[in-house]
Amino acid sequence: MIQRAAKLNPTSLTLDRLEELGIRPELIAARGLCPCVEASHLELAEVGADGREHRLVPEAAKAWCRMKDAALQANIHLFIVSAYRSVDRQAEIIQRKLDAGQKIEDILCVSAPPGFSEHHTGCAMDIGAPDTPLLECCFDQTAAFSWLRQHAGQFGFVLSYPADNPQGYQYEPWHWCHVASRDSPLRAAPAI
Ligand SMILES: [Zn+2]
Repeated sequence: MIQRAAKLNPTSLTLDRLEELGIRPELIAARGLCPCVEASHLELAEVGADGREHRLVPEAAKAWCRMKDAALQANIHLFIVSAYRSVDRQAEIIQRKLDAGQKIEDILCVSAPPGFSEHHTGCAMDIGAPDTPLLECCFDQTAAFSWLRQHAGQFGFVLSYPADNPQGYQYEPWHWCHVASRDSPLRAAPAI
């Protein structure tokens, strides 16, 4: 148990990485963000049209397949835009935005700090639908979103970041998390 608890705390590596990116611990504390542990066991949930492989923890992958099939029965096509993402990858994404001249405060309204993204857990995914811009708020105007709002809960998925969410992220109608997987005692992560 002690070993597991230690493993769930933000690692010194994560803390170093935050410092490198200019992300102060006070900012994370003020936002009430919780560390997210990288999944250790993932399985392939979907291969994108571009050949990209999207991975989730097994329970979330199964729930995703069930949900996607049910949506298809209602003529709603859903696909994964992004699923599991490592802490390293998250740091790269933020570094790229910094290099492009964005301010860290602005970046963190859209992207989680490395070590704090639900995507690390392998339980969260960004969902897209055909003929709709990806990762845009107008996703909430689609039939796909209406269907998800009505049915995703039956499959264990919740919208993590509704409008005015307490974590201070922008409204993300495309980002859904399989909470049964995320909140399992094996995965629960304490606040710093
Ligand atoms: Zn997301």
